[in-house]
Amino acid sequence: MKTIGMIGGMSWESSIEYYRIINETIRTERGGLHSAKSIMYSVEFAEMEALQHQDRWDEAAKILIDAARSLESGGADFGIICTNTMHKLYDMIQQSIQIPLLHIADATAESIKAEGIQKIALLGTRFTMEENFYRGRLVENYGLDVIIPHSEDMEIVHRIIYDELCAGIIQSDSKQKYADIIRRLVREGAEGIILGCTEIGLLVKQEDSPVLLFDTTEIHAKAAVKYALENELSSPCQ
Ligand code: GLU
Repeated sequence: MKTIGMIGGMSWESSIEYYRIINETIRTERGGLHSAKSIMYSVEFAEMEALQHQDRWDEAAKILIDAARSLESGGADFGIICTNTMHKLYDMIQQSIQIPLLHIADATAESIKAEGIQKIALLGTRFTMEENFYRGRLVENYGLDVIIPHSEDMEIVHRIIYDELCAGIIQSDSKQKYADIIRRLVREGAEGIILGCTEIGLLVKQEDSPVLLFDTTEIHAKAAVKYALENELSSPCQ
């Protein structure tokens, strides 16, 4: 089994989910007491959030590159960045290490394609929804039609992520707001919804949506397990 390196803490509310899903999936696959080999480097989220909102992405990249290098030298065979937003820095991080980093949008796009869906809506932070680093990958590499909420709804989605979900606050009126936004996107033709922020799955569940939800935390965590178990490295403990 390969060792998974997780760049986590963005926020830790979702890193816990990654850790749980990865281990539960290994147990489902292997049974008994089997669990994942993993290392997590968990950053200080207040520091990262400030750098994001002050447009100081180079400084954020430096922190994540240090984290990735620590995971690599600590023995990780590959890595995952446990947040959609920080995939804005994916190329810089990948270029500074030798081990592969599994991109969250690739795993998500493959799940969407497997369902035969073409027009998909993306919910996430404003960075993820508005900029090209994420949507562009879905459109250019996978030929998907990606729609996003209009600006007022985008602001609501963004605000709830940082003010509530990343702070461990789950509120039913916010869940309702997300459900309303999802319904508006479905009226615009969305055949599925990407929960493109690793905390949204803590708030919104499949029963809140008339179309399929693609929870990037679950998809990415399961892709990591698949990769960890593929062409396994030999080890006396397996
Ligand atoms: N976890 C979130 C995401 O998947 C947002 C937190 C962050 O800014 O990294 O985008």
